[in-house]
Amino acid sequence: MRSEFLEELILILGHPNVLVDDDDKAPYLNDWRKRYSGKALAITLPKTVQEIAQIVQLCAKNQIAIVPQGGHTGFCGGATPDNTGAQIILNLKRMNAIREIDKANQTITLEAGCILQAVQDKAADQDFLFPLSLGAEGSCMIGGNLATNAGGTNVLRYGNTRDLCLGLEVVTAKGEIWNGLKGLRKDNTGYDLRDLFIGSEGTLGIITAAVMKLYPLPISQWTTLVAIDSIESTIALLNLFQKRATSLLTGFEMMTQESLTLNEKHFPHMANPLQGNPPYTILIELSDHESEEHVRQLLETVLEEAFEAGLISDAVIANNLSQANSFWHMREHITLAQAEEGANLKHDITIPLSSLDNFIKETDAQMRSQYPGVRIINFGHLGDGNLHYNIAPPLGVDPKAFNLIHEKPIHELIYAQVERCHGSISAEHGVGQLKLEDLRAHKGEVAHELMKTLKRALDPQNILNPHKVVSI
Ligand SMILES: Cc1cc2nc3c(=O)[nH]c(=O)nc-3n(C[C@H](O)[C@H](O)[C@H](O)COP(=O)(O)OP(=O)(O)OC[C@H]3O[C@@H](n4cnc5c(N)ncnc54)[C@H](O)[C@@H]3O)c2cc1C
Repeated sequence: MRSEFLEELILILGHPNVLVDDDDKAPYLNDWRKRYSGKALAITLPKTVQEIAQIVQLCAKNQIAIVPQGGHTGFCGGATPDNTGAQIILNLKRMNAIREIDKANQTITLEAGCILQAVQDKAADQDFLFPLSLGAEGSCMIGGNLATNAGGTNVLRYGNTRDLCLGLEVVTAKGEIWNGLKGLRKDNTGYDLRDLFIGSEGTLGIITAAVMKLYPLPISQWTTLVAIDSIESTIALLNLFQKRATSLLTGFEMMTQESLTLNEKHFPHMANPLQGNPPYTILIELSDHESEEHVRQLLETVLEEAFEAGLISDAVIANNLSQANSFWHMREHITLAQAEEGANLKHDITIPLSSLDNFIKETDAQMRSQYPGVRIINFGHLGDGNLHYNIAPPLGVDPKAFNLIHEKPIHELIYAQVERCHGSISAEHGVGQLKLEDLRAHKGEVAHELMKTLKRALDPQNILNPHKVVSI
């Protein structure tokens, strides 16, 4: 049966686009964090939506599960197959055409395999901003961004991937093509199918193309790093910027002392330019469509006000684009420094801003008393209430041995605090296989049952990325 199935796949895609040799399959079988690896019957590399529809029909006929895959930079193992060797990977990298840029409608229609950075560049060529931006933008793909509803550094001003999407083209679990590629900002025709597929991590349908919003390209951007002593002052500073700069505020990122110490250990050229690596370093970005002077003056005025109010103790404003980029690189390299340091326990969480200070104080205290010496690598998109509250073992302790014993109780401790503060256990990375059980425990029974009902309705044979997000 397997060889017949593979022969039919080859008939649809041609020989070079169905990988079955172990060496050819290997690059597709591990996740970015090297936490998950799997086996696959084949890796399929379709080029058109019609080919994808045919693959899904063939899989439905043979009850073969499909793992959709973009750039496989996801943090939750969603794009990695299981260990049975019975699933196929459907990688969308060859489906990477920009179908249309509609200048009047300020939209771009593009295929799921487009690399995010290429989309930003294409938009900039036409004098537009495509605002989705994240550390993996050189490898992740727009289909993966939509499937995970990725966040990143511009959410404060432009929203998550969901907020940037107006329409989708999707291949359903039956192998039908749903063409919802409408570039409409209003469309109240019943259930929002687009929103069902966004964030569904390949479990409800395969996203093949999308209509995304474009924005005017800002003419000036000013970036600053400020030193701050407490989260309470950080929230007050955020609120001050929100009040004075309103929509000009496009970035507000937090890095703790411990995060930047780790950064400096692995990337010494990324030392914090602020004196003495303060308890919290905040990266703030303002963007403007008017003039350089306008935004620079505004930034200086708000910083002065923050100094006078005793909220900040030091600030460095980037003098040019290259210095601004170096501030952002420092922020983005924390993830890479953690990867260099070895396995660590990641928690991508959101807390309402009003409870953030309490969450951090309480959780830090419990972590330090129960696990003396642990390093709390806490950083994130603070403007969105999104923390990457990650735990590295005490210096000198083997990460694997530490995680083996402490992983579960540490997750439980942190997620209990998240629940107490009415937060979420996944802010932007999704669920995948990593948080399948956590979702069951924390989503709430009614919500979890509704999710299972949707999964059963849209994928009754359970062939689309089974045992990711929800198990039915
Ligand atoms: C250095 C680094 C920094 C990161 N920073 C951020 C950040 O700031 N914010 C953030 O949100 N994430 C971040 N991520 C996580 C990751 O980049 C995002 O989740 C990204 O959106 C995944 O895109 P991808 O193409 O790599 O998807 P993959 O990893 O290939 O897939 C992710 C999930 O989507 C499914 N999928 C992929 N393509 C499709 C499709 N076309 N149709 C249906 N399902 C599909 C997969 O099955 C899987 O479940 C970061 C990752 C790295 C490595």
